[in-house]
Amino acid sequence: MLKLEKLSFDNSYAALPDVFFERVKPTPFPNPYVVSVNPDAAGLLNLDPGEFTRPDFPEYFCGAKLLPGSDPLAMLYSGHQFGHYVPQLGDGRAILLGEVKNEKGEPWELQLKGAGLTRFSRDGDGRAVLRSTIREYLCGEAMHGLGIPTTRSLCIVAGEEIVWREKPEPGAMLLRMAPSHVRFGSFEVFFYRRQHEYLKVLADYVIDHHYPSVREAENPYVRLLHEVAMRTGYLVAQWQAVGWAHGVLNTDNMSILSLTLDYGPYGFMERYDPSFICNHSDHQGRYSFQHQPDIGYWNIRALAQALSPLLDDAAIQMAPDLYEQAMLKKYAELMRGKLGLLETHAGDDKLVTNLLNLMDSSRVDYTTFFRALGDFQQEGPSPNSIVRDFFLHREVFDDWAIRYRERLLAEKSQDVERKIRMDQMNPKYILRNYLAEHAIQQATGEKDYSEIDRLLKLLSHPFTEQPGMEAYALPAPDDSPSIIVSCSS
Ligand code: AMP
Ligand code: MG
Repeated sequence: MLKLEKLSFDNSYAALPDVFFERVKPTPFPNPYVVSVNPDAAGLLNLDPGEFTRPDFPEYFCGAKLLPGSDPLAMLYSGHQFGHYVPQLGDGRAILLGEVKNEKGEPWELQLKGAGLTRFSRDGDGRAVLRSTIREYLCGEAMHGLGIPTTRSLCIVAGEEIVWREKPEPGAMLLRMAPSHVRFGSFEVFFYRRQHEYLKVLADYVIDHHYPSVREAENPYVRLLHEVAMRTGYLVAQWQAVGWAHGVLNTDNMSILSLTLDYGPYGFMERYDPSFICNHSDHQGRYSFQHQPDIGYWNIRALAQALSPLLDDAAIQMAPDLYEQAMLKKYAELMRGKLGLLETHAGDDKLVTNLLNLMDSSRVDYTTFFRALGDFQQEGPSPNSIVRDFFLHREVFDDWAIRYRERLLAEKSQDVERKIRMDQMNPKYILRNYLAEHAIQQATGEKDYSEIDRLLKLLSHPFTEQPGMEAYALPAPDDSPSIIVSCSS
C-alpha cells in the first residue's frame, strides 16, 4: 500500500505533441476538505487508506499541491453537440493530473473536474458545483457496481468557494479515474481541422496504450474503429437493459474505451417509459431513453467519419452495422437474462417486447418489477400475485404470464436456481434521482456527507440484499418533488 508521494506517474498523454493539450495547473479552493473518499477506487491505485486522513490529502485533490510526478494538462477535443459540430470544446474545467501505473501495470488517469479555468473554458468558470459532483461521484460507482464500463470516482473535495449557477452554490472538485479520457471528439477535432497527421498520432497512441491486440490486424485503424463500434454497442445495450439514460450523448461525451463518461443530467428510469427524457434542456428528446441506441449509431458514424483518412470506404460503412449488431445481440442476451432464460428460442424477443409494452401501459417501476419477477413460480395456487399486482390490468399480465411459464417449461427452468441467477441480473438498488437528491440536500444544507458514503457502499453491491436498507430499493415516493437536471453544472 502506497503513500501519496509514492504513486508512480507515467503521463503518456503528456508525451504527445503539444497540439493535443494545454499544460495548465489546477486553481485551488481556499480551505479544502474531504467530502468523500472511495476506498475501492483508491485500491486500484494501491493507495494506502491511511492516506485519506492525512491533513494535506484534500490539498492534493483540490490542486493546492501537486503530487510528485504529476504533469497537469487540459485535453483538446471537439464534438457534435445535439447534432451540430462545435469546432473546439476541450477540457474547460477538468485537468488531467497525470497517469498512474498501479502494481499490476494498469494505467489510471487521474482527472480533477472543477479544477479551474483552462484555454478551453470558453464562457464557463472552470468550476463544478458540489451537487453535480456528488451525482457524478455516485453514479460512476453505481454503474461499476452494475458491471457497466465507466469512469471511476476517487474523491470529492470541497472548500470555501461559492460557484454561481442559477443561484450561489457550494463548489467542489471530483477526482475521477479512467485508463484514458480520450473521446470521439478527440479525433474529430483533427479531422475537421484537416490535421490528419495528428489523427494518426492519436490513433497510434490509443492502439499502443489501450488496444494493443489491434496492432496485429492488416489495417490496425480499421480494427480499432470496429472494436470501438462493437464495444460501444455492448455499452449502450447495458444502459438499455438497466433502464438508464445518459442525457447528453454528444460525441465529446463518448469514450474511445467505451466507458460511460461525463455524468450530468443522467437518470435511471423509475416507471418504464421509453420516451423518458432525463435532461431538462433536451426539448426534442434527442437523448431520450429510447433514442440512445440510434444515437450510438449516429455517434459511431461520426467517429468513422473522423477516422476516414485512415480507412477505406468499406470499413467506414461497416462500423455502424457492427455497432448495431453488437448492441442488438447484447441487448437480447441481457433481456433474456433478466427473464431468467438460459436458452435462446424463437419468439424470445417478442416475449420481452410484449412485457415492456405492458409495463409501459401500466407505468410499472422497471427495477422493482424485474427484481420481483425472480420470484415467479411455475406451479401452485395463484403463486404470482406479487408480480401481477404491479399491473393495472392484471388479466393482461396473466396472458403474458402463461406464455412466460410455457417458455420456462420449454427449457425445464428450475424456480429456485433461476431466482438466484435473476438476482444477479436484476439489481435491487439503483441510484434513483431522489436518493441522490437526498444526499445532495444533506451535503449542501447541513454539510452532512454521511448519506453519500452510505449510498456509495450500498450501490457498489446493487444485486445483494442489504439488511436494513429495504427503503433504498423503493421507487420515489409519489409526493417527492420533481428533480430538474440539465447540462453542465
Ligand atoms: P459537458 O456538457 O459537461 O460535457 O461540457 C461540454 C463542454 O463545456 C466541455 O468542453 C466542458 O469542458 C465545457 N464546460 C462545461 N462546464 C464548464 C464550466 N463550468 N467551465 C468551463 N467549461 C465548462
Ligand atoms: Mg463533457
